[in-house]
Amino acid sequence: MKLFERLESVLFPERCPCCGEVLNAKGPCEDCENGLKEQLITGKVCRYCGHEKQYCECKKYHYLFEGVAAPFYNRDTAQNGVYRFKLSYAPYCAKYFGKMMADVFSQRFKNVSIDVVCIVSTHTADARKRDYDYVALLAKRCAKELGLKFDPKLLKKVRKTDRQHELTADKRQANVKGAYKAMRRLDGKTVLLIDDIKTTGYTLNECSKQLRMAGAEKVYCLTALMSANNTCKTDKTEI
Ligand SMILES: [Zn+2]
Ligand SMILES: [Zn+2]
Repeated sequence: MKLFERLESVLFPERCPCCGEVLNAKGPCEDCENGLKEQLITGKVCRYCGHEKQYCECKKYHYLFEGVAAPFYNRDTAQNGVYRFKLSYAPYCAKYFGKMMADVFSQRFKNVSIDVVCIVSTHTADARKRDYDYVALLAKRCAKELGLKFDPKLLKKVRKTDRQHELTADKRQANVKGAYKAMRRLDGKTVLLIDDIKTTGYTLNECSKQLRMAGAEKVYCLTALMSANNTCKTDKTEI
């Protein structure tokens, strides 16, 4: 091992993206690897809501995005990993989760050509800029893996919202309505919208609406986690 590499491995050792344990090799530790495997979304998956087909109810709803994918269910080891990434300063987690997201997107949407990657912004435009934006780190990694351009400022949050997970399902849609805005025209473009977790899908749908109102032809969504038994019950809304 060269001196520089040795120094780097001492200063920035490889860590498990789920539990943070220092490792000698890349990737999750053995325990987390086993736990993550159990949460992989596999088998026959509905491309519209991203769930395994037995959980799909989306045929009766109208989505403003073309499809959504996530590598993991929002449970156990996978959930612990993403929550750690979010709540503690652990930017190295982006490498693993970003790669898993990029891989699942490539598998599910093989023939889709994306023009630009953007994120669901978590802070209003006037809020103080946070130094640690983990969703942006995730999207940056995904874009790199997929060879795509990432525009972190494409979608802005224009008003504050309550935390979605603290609201009942019927209030979630109203909470995000009109809360986001596309900052430039996207005529004829295909956009990949990235977020950390999909629960009801209301936020992704609202952001997709704004992107399409700005001219985007198609929007695809990609998240790290997806709630297992939560169908995306978006109402029938037209642009
Ligand atoms: Zn671990
Ligand atoms: Zn479905």
